[in-house]
Amino acid sequence: MSTLASRYGEVQDRITAACAAANRSREGVTLIVVTKFHPVELVSELYDLGHRDFGENKDQEAGPKAKALGQNLASRGMENDARWHFVGQLQSNKVKTVVRYAHAIHSLDRESLLQALAKETAKPEFEGSLDVFIELNLTDDDGRGGIKPTALRDFAEQVLEVPKLNLVGVMGVAGLHTEPERDFAAIRDASEQLKQLKPEANLISAGMSGDFEIALQYGATHLRIGTAITGPRQY
Ligand SMILES: *Cc1c(COP(=O)(O)O)cnc(C)c1O
Repeated sequence: MSTLASRYGEVQDRITAACAAANRSREGVTLIVVTKFHPVELVSELYDLGHRDFGENKDQEAGPKAKALGQNLASRGMENDARWHFVGQLQSNKVKTVVRYAHAIHSLDRESLLQALAKETAKPEFEGSLDVFIELNLTDDDGRGGIKPTALRDFAEQVLEVPKLNLVGVMGVAGLHTEPERDFAAIRDASEQLKQLKPEANLISAGMSGDFEIALQYGATHLRIGTAITGPRQY
């Protein structure tokens, strides 16, 4: 029977193999385990396996889970150095709470959210900085969240004006309306454009359970993997 530890190990092995096949260094790739719909016990089990990067897509779930992990670790006398990555659509009215625990927002997808983040991070109680990825809309559907690649440069310039936001790269969900290869290529092209504006903003958040090996061929640096590690989600 497969266990969390064995699935985690298998995915790590597949990442290592895919990096080798693409002639890339494994150190340049961050695995984010997306733990949405799973209890904090699963998170702490992964933490005990040495994992530190976790992804969530709803504040209502992520906030309490991040707090519960902290309590669980404190009760065992352990230091909490987990990093929480917010990967879902973020409502502006949740920004206030999300900035308290999030290390990075992968889903900066519109101007109104940028304004909310600018306002919140400008408050004196906000310390440090917040990493952000610009989420791309790779579909022809303008109603979908995300910045069209043609609008990336203008939007990125606005992000760069916000002092406490650290623009680190682009994010995309591939294969919604087309084969994933095409989308991963589009994400890579967008990343090249962004690097012309800010060379250090060279991260690419792309690749999920079903397509992460392809994403690695196209330069993904941050994989967001859920079910392949956690098992199915109970909705
Ligand atoms: C849930 C989710 C994932 C993980 O998906 P899996 O197919 O379970 O690996 C990745 N990215 C985002 C934005 C998600 O919401």
